[in-house]
Amino acid sequence: MNIILLGPPGAGKGTQAERLVAERGMIQLSTGDMLREAKTSGTEMGKRVAEVMDRGDLVTDEIVIGLIREKITGDAGGGFIFDGFPRTLAQADALGALLDETGQPLDCVIELQVDDEVLVGRIVGRAAEAAAAGKPVRADDNEESLKIRLMEYYKKTSPLSGYYYAKGDLKGVDGLGAIDQVATDIAGVLDA
Ligand code: AMP
Repeated sequence: MNIILLGPPGAGKGTQAERLVAERGMIQLSTGDMLREAKTSGTEMGKRVAEVMDRGDLVTDEIVIGLIREKITGDAGGGFIFDGFPRTLAQADALGALLDETGQPLDCVIELQVDDEVLVGRIVGRAAEAAAAGKPVRADDNEESLKIRLMEYYKKTSPLSGYYYAKGDLKGVDGLGAIDQVATDIAGVLDA
């Protein structure tokens, strides 16, 4: 089973993906994690994207599609969770083509629905929590980058809900509840 977790920054995509990995042996493909890894390991690509990411802008479609292409030809385990990808219509089309080429289905797109005030609060909270625990704070978890990330989401990513709705793949899940409740709701969708 291959699924996409869709939703704005701070909606809880990463948290829910981790649950699905632990509970169902699925494989999380987070382009954000891959890009952060490239950044810390100082690869050429990492150096090129660092500034863009820190600012809160999206990196080019070409780069993230390349990252995903490398992964989905490998072991599919209990299925892929696309987390933070696709983020543009071009990426969505490219993912569709890649899955077709490799003969894999897209089973559903789960949209985590959260209101904007909550998002901002969660991201600011995530940064404060990390700082308090002596953990590294994401370079883009600050107010300035967050504004840009939200704008990027509304301009470029939010059209994907319509895109997947029209394809008949979209399932909305209330992302406002406790982590366990959201996980239960997602399981309900996947097991339906
Ligand atoms: P995330 O961890 O998903 O919030 O992603 C962190 C940052 O990585 C984003 O703000 C973008 O700069 C970049 N990024 C992650 N995934 C994508 C994507 N699919 N397309 C473009 N940029 C991405």
